[in-house]
Formats: sequence, C-alpha cells, structure tokens
Amino acid sequence: VLTLRPSLPRVDPARAERAAILLDRALGGSKVLTARDLCEPFARDESEAIGESPDIVVHAASADDIQTTLRIANEAGVPVTPRAGGSGRTGGAVPVCAGIVLATAAMTSIKEIDKTDLLVVAEPGVILSDLQDAVEREGLFFPPDPSSATYCCLGGNVAANAGGPRAFKYGSVNRYVLGLEVTLMDGTRLQTGRRTMKGVTGYDLTSLMVGSEGTLGVISEVTLRLVPKPPAVGTLLALFDHVRAAGAAVRDIVARGLVPRCLEILDATTLEAVRRSGVPIDTRAGAMLLIEVDGEPATCEVELERVGEACSTSGAIDVLVAQDAAQRDRLWKARKEMSRAVRALTKNKLSEDVVVPRSRLVDLLDQVDRISESSGVKMLSYGHAGDGNLHVNFLWNDPDELPRVDLAIERLFREVVAMRGTLSGEHGIGVLKAPYLPLEQSADLIAVQRKIKATLDPAGLLNPGKIFPVLGHRDC
Ligand SMILES: Cc1cc2nc3c(=O)[nH]c(=O)nc-3n(C[C@H](O)[C@H](O)[C@H](O)COP(=O)(O)OP(=O)(O)OC[C@H]3O[C@@H](n4cnc5c(N)ncnc54)[C@H](O)[C@@H]3O)c2cc1C
Repeated sequence: VLTLRPSLPRVDPARAERAAILLDRALGGSKVLTARDLCEPFARDESEAIGESPDIVVHAASADDIQTTLRIANEAGVPVTPRAGGSGRTGGAVPVCAGIVLATAAMTSIKEIDKTDLLVVAEPGVILSDLQDAVEREGLFFPPDPSSATYCCLGGNVAANAGGPRAFKYGSVNRYVLGLEVTLMDGTRLQTGRRTMKGVTGYDLTSLMVGSEGTLGVISEVTLRLVPKPPAVGTLLALFDHVRAAGAAVRDIVARGLVPRCLEILDATTLEAVRRSGVPIDTRAGAMLLIEVDGEPATCEVELERVGEACSTSGAIDVLVAQDAAQRDRLWKARKEMSRAVRALTKNKLSEDVVVPRSRLVDLLDQVDRISESSGVKMLSYGHAGDGNLHVNFLWNDPDELPRVDLAIERLFREVVAMRGTLSGEHGIGVLKAPYLPLEQSADLIAVQRKIKATLDPAGLLNPGKIFPVLGHRDC
C-alpha cells in the first residue's frame, strides 16, 4: 500500500498539450513550465508517496491566474493538483495521474494586519513562520505551529487543517479561519465566511474547505483570526523511567484543570535516537514530557509549579524549569533534534499521526510496543500527548520489509479505531491513507462526502486520488 498508487489513468497527452498551449497563451511562458526536469520535482512531497511527474507546473501569481488555470484545465479535461510548500506527509500535493500542478508558493503577500478586528489577510504562499513573525511584531499571535513552520505555507496549512504542539491549548488552524477566497474547478470564484468574529449565514463553506486537502477548491486568500501575543512563556521538561508514568502525569495535569500550551511526549526509542545524535539525556529516562505554559508572568509561574507537582507526584525522575530564553531553547533541543535524529536511524521512515481519546494514550503506546514486537518492524512514538495525538514512526531499511510495515500500519489503524480514535490528527489522508478511510468512516459517510465532491467538481479533476479510496487502492 505504501508505494501503491491508485490506478487512475495518466492524462491523455493530447489534452495536456492543448492545456499547455492555452495556459502559455493566457499566463505567459514564465509562469507555465513544461520541461521535464523542471516538472519532475513536483511529483513528490515530504511523504513516501511517489507521484507521476506533472505535464505542466503553473506558478500562479494571483487569484486571476488560479481562475484562468482552473478554467482552462476544466475545459481541456486535465487534472489539477494544488500545491503550496510541498511539506505534506501524506502525498496530498503529489499528482497521481500527472496533468497540472498548480503551485501557489509565489503568492506571498500579507495584505493586512488589523489590530482592532484581530485578523490578518494573506495569500496562500506566505510561509507560516513569516506570518507568525509579522503578527508578533504587532503584539499579536497566530498559535498553530506545525514543526514545518519555516517552509510550509498558509494555503497548505488551511487545506490540511494543520496543528502542532500548541494545539492542546489553542486548537488547530480551523479555529482561526474566518474566511477564504477560493476558486472551484469550473473557475467560479467564491468568498466564503466573513471578517467578523461571529456569523451564521448559510452553510459553513469555510469549514468545508478547511481540511479538504485541495479536493474542493483552490485557495487564493485567507482571512485568519489572531489573538493577543501572550506576554510570558514558561517551559518545563520532565523525565520519567517509563511512558506509563509520563502518561499518568498527563492525566494528572488535565485533572488539575491546567491547560499548558504544549504537552509533548517522547518515548524511550525516540530518546535513544536523540541521545545518539549528541543531545545528553539522563540514561535512566524512558520517556520525556516537554511542557510549556503561557500568559501573564505571575500566572505562568503558578501554572509551572502545579505542572511540576503533577509530574513529581506521577514519579518523574527529574524536572527542569527553564529560567531564561537560552535555557528554554536547550530544553526544546531534544524535541527539535528529534526528526533529524530519527531520520539518521534508518533509510526509510513513515510517520503516522493517529489520535486516541487522551485517556487511552498509554494504551496506544503499549499497543505500539506490541505491534513492533510481533511484526519485527522498528517503531517509535512521539507527539502531542495533550491531544492524544501520536506520531508513530515506522522505520525500515530493506524494501523486502515493506509488506511487514504495511501490515503493522494497518494493525495500528485498526487498534486506534477500536479505541474510538482517528487515523489523522493533523496530516490529513492524502493518497497514502486513502485506502484505510473505510476503517474509520461508514460507507454512507463516505458516500455523502463523494456527493459533495461531485457537486463542486463533477468531472473529478481537482486533486484526484486523494482522501477517498479509488480503484487500485486496496479494499479494507
Ligand atoms: C518535518 C515536518 C514536520 C511537520 N510537522 C507538522 C506538525 O507538527 N503539525 C502538522 O499539522 N503538520 C506537520 N507537518 C505536515 C505539513 O507540514 C503540514 O500538513 C502543512 O500544513 C502542509 O503545508 P504545505 O504548504 O507544505 O502544503 P502542501 O504539502 O503543498 O499541500 C498540502 C495539501 O494542501 C493542498 N493545497 C496546497 N495549497 C493549496 C491551495 N492554495 N488551495 C487548496 N489546496 C491547497 C494540497 O493539494 C495538499 O493536499 C510536518 C511536515 C514535516 C515535513
């Protein structure tokens, strides 16, 4: 399944050629690429999914360019795959039957930051960390913080409904999207939502678009709600001999009514990888929690103290509190080094992002150990413990191991669904998880979503092969 592409037919070369001529005429050569070596890099994202090299890459510079591209593609019958930063983990931006990749990364304008209405209006190619820096300079805050913030873009963040460590307190991107400018496959341009904080007019198409992974429309502008920048941040790191003790601490923190902005967990195998990368971590530690609170300085101090108490009561072997920004950076080092450290362990790595009810987090960690043991596949977990959202990583070196990895992934998904969890907390379904959707969602639920898709994109040309299982995907 990992490398299996849905067997959608590659677009007819004559159609692609016609679209290329029309696009070149309408947009000008510099925005329309057809040379194979220039198009090839757009066949991949940051997942294991392998796509077809697109016939055409359009670098849109405006909403009009997006509209023109979609109109021409629709008329020519050529599929379109929207793309922003290309950092997706499930192949959402990977074209599975070639055609056009519609790249929005060149649309990088932050059009407006309003300090009274507490909102920002921006284009889809703005890099998330650029947006965060710009609003923080104005004393405002955009909380969602995927670890890819320095290279993912707002269009992808909205289309994937991104999360990140701060989601425990602040929620994912969907909590901040007030309105969108979005163009449908037939070229109809819509303004969904509003600039006001409240509003109940008509169906909530903004919410429908958020997390739709580029399958319903292409975003050309986002209006995002902001919050005041918290004046102070406090960081605490707690080490435990076993994940079970760390899990107990998470439960205790929540039971005390505390809402840290981050509540991150690293398991024993992840800690070992980080140690190997040169970050010194107490060798007794079999789990780590990294916890961050924010707010007024006095409140932060009290909350940190109570978080520390919860960790100690649950059996922490060490609790460290950062006294200044430099120490805070040191405490985050293990978490920040983690992706690189884990990558260094193996040739191939696939990171799932399952979620279970918070009360089942330790059960999930136990299951991961059991699946790893019985399948013989090396696995490790880290993630957003406060949300019950674990990034379970599957590591392998030899292609012969793939069938075992596939089985281990499926077993994990089945266990997660049995715990009333979900297959994705923040990465989405894309192409890699599409075959597994029926494990979680009923046939009726999938059918209703397919009808919505068919209403907005009757010919199925916008980001085909994503979210829903199609022919060639395995039947679960
Ligand atoms: C090291 C690493 C760490 C990560 N950490 C996190 C994390 O902590 N939390 C998290 O949530 N994610 C994380 N991710 C995943 C990824 O960065 C996010 O999903 C991100 O939101 C994708 O943004 P992008 O701009 O790269 O989108 P892309 O990968 O380009 O696209 C993602 C999806 O959005 C669609 N899309 C893109 N642009 C548009 C548009 N203009 N209109 C309509 N649809 C569009 C695409 O078709 C695709 O389906 C991580 C990825 C990496 C590589």
